[in-house]
Amino acid sequence: MSASSWDALVIGAGLGGLVAGATLARQGWKVVVLEAAGHSGGTASTFRRGDYRFPRGPLGFSSPATVKEIWEGLCGMPLETQRVSYLLNAFGREIALSSPLSQLEEILHEAFPGESEVIREFFSSVRTVSGALREPQQNEARTLAENAFLTSARDFLKRLGAGEQLRRILGSQGCREPYSSVALLAAMWDLLCEQGIHYPTCGLDRLCEGLIETVRSGSPGGHLMTNNRVIGISVEGGRVVGVELENGDRLRASTVICNADIRRTYLEMLPKNEVPALWLQAVASIPLSSSVFQVAVGLNASLADLSIFRHSSRVIFCLGEWGDPADGGIGPLIAPLKPSSEVELCLFSRDEPNAAPPGGAVLVIRTSSTWKDFQWYRPEPQRRKPGYLRFKMILARMLRAAASRFIPGLEEAEVSLDASTPLTFADLAGRSEGAVAGWSWDFRESHPGWLDLIRTPIGGLYMCGHQAYTSMLKGGVPSAMLSGREAARAAMRGDPPLLDPPFDAPT
Ligand SMILES: Cc1cc2nc3c(=O)[nH]c(=O)nc-3n(C[C@H](O)[C@H](O)[C@H](O)COP(=O)(O)OP(=O)(O)OC[C@H]3O[C@@H](n4cnc5c(N)ncnc54)[C@H](O)[C@@H]3O)c2cc1C
Repeated sequence: MSASSWDALVIGAGLGGLVAGATLARQGWKVVVLEAAGHSGGTASTFRRGDYRFPRGPLGFSSPATVKEIWEGLCGMPLETQRVSYLLNAFGREIALSSPLSQLEEILHEAFPGESEVIREFFSSVRTVSGALREPQQNEARTLAENAFLTSARDFLKRLGAGEQLRRILGSQGCREPYSSVALLAAMWDLLCEQGIHYPTCGLDRLCEGLIETVRSGSPGGHLMTNNRVIGISVEGGRVVGVELENGDRLRASTVICNADIRRTYLEMLPKNEVPALWLQAVASIPLSSSVFQVAVGLNASLADLSIFRHSSRVIFCLGEWGDPADGGIGPLIAPLKPSSEVELCLFSRDEPNAAPPGGAVLVIRTSSTWKDFQWYRPEPQRRKPGYLRFKMILARMLRAAASRFIPGLEEAEVSLDASTPLTFADLAGRSEGAVAGWSWDFRESHPGWLDLIRTPIGGLYMCGHQAYTSMLKGGVPSAMLSGREAARAAMRGDPPLLDPPFDAPT
């Protein structure tokens, strides 16, 4: 392969990088997508354990119209999706969370008859704010949306007079204390109830394969090179000139689109003397979202009672008080698990039938977790201290025991089990602090708006991926895809570098 034969290099074959590569290839650019891992699709892919396939990341996506529009435009065929639904099982109630807003309002009026006025006012605000977020170009809507970013969802619900249970349901779409801004919360209700969370009927891996085919089929044709980690981005006189691979090879191109983690790109891959100090400071200070602890279980479906999933493939519950296993408790919890932890169960093989062999099923059990919970076990990248495996298996068994309350027979039915921690997402998916959902969603530290970081201070270098937006207003998968398209368009227009960061580093 000639070292200077490329119009553009794309670093990373996540959805962001694949959409960027496919967009350029469709326009006749000669493009190569360089992927560190041995597989493409980044976190939006599955991995095999025996006869079962487990998801690395997304269990679905929001903003289906955006995903379809981009994918169909690039792949030239229809993308069928199916809507998935969520059941909240908490506070002694079952609530069909992903019902259309008007229906959900009725369900909640019945469940909380004394708080009807709070429910009515809350959903009226959700409709107004989510409408304003969709029309940010209008002055009135912009002001409303800006205020919503500056208002804590918890304070807002307290002011409305919501009792604790209702506050937690309305404020987190689950059973946690509210933590985001009103803007983000309104967007999430709109996505969950009105637009819906969807899953591609062709499967997650096929979603990525379609994009790879487009990269390859462009004229003159592009390439995907897996097992090729980029360790440096080369810059001369403020312009990108190529990349350096871990194996020592150098590829040259005057356009580079980077789908890697934003912190790692600025702080590790770019030459420090080429990046303005303000940018380095701003990127280093980006507050990241938390991570997850995820357990995937391959089951013999005939031995487990999966009837909890008869109406919804997702169930959300609160871990609850620890207690005597003989009374249905799961024994004393150890950090990061706590009674208030929210747990999501997903019967993944319902949406992705090929994930399990005939007679089998795949269950995913997930709870929020932070980098600090596991950091101690990682003395350096890719290494673990002794005890890590034991610790994660203890946690995995606790979550499995908690899930057994809803799925009798789960333990006996288990054929294969895999557990992922924030360290997994840091080392295998390249994510700083194992963050799973971009910038922090926590009201106290989140960015009060929706900016993009596609342009960089380096000429010809553009960023893509879910972190390229300061808020996850559209959801992870659509944000990654949208950013890939926008980065490719910026590259084709030759958008100039952005000398100052579009956001301030906290002082
Ligand atoms: C556990 C988990 C659960 C999630 N659940 C959801 C969900 O339910 N819904 C949702 O919408 N989103 C979810 N997300 C977010 C999801 O990952 C994104 O939505 C989307 O798939 C991210 O795509 P991306 O292109 O931004 O990045 P990634 O998927 O992270 O892809 C980046 C790619 O770049 C590669 N790379 C990184 N550095 C280098 C380098 N130096 N050289 C070469 N290659 C490199 C990586 O190996 C990777 O393949 C989840 C993420 C995780 C981790």
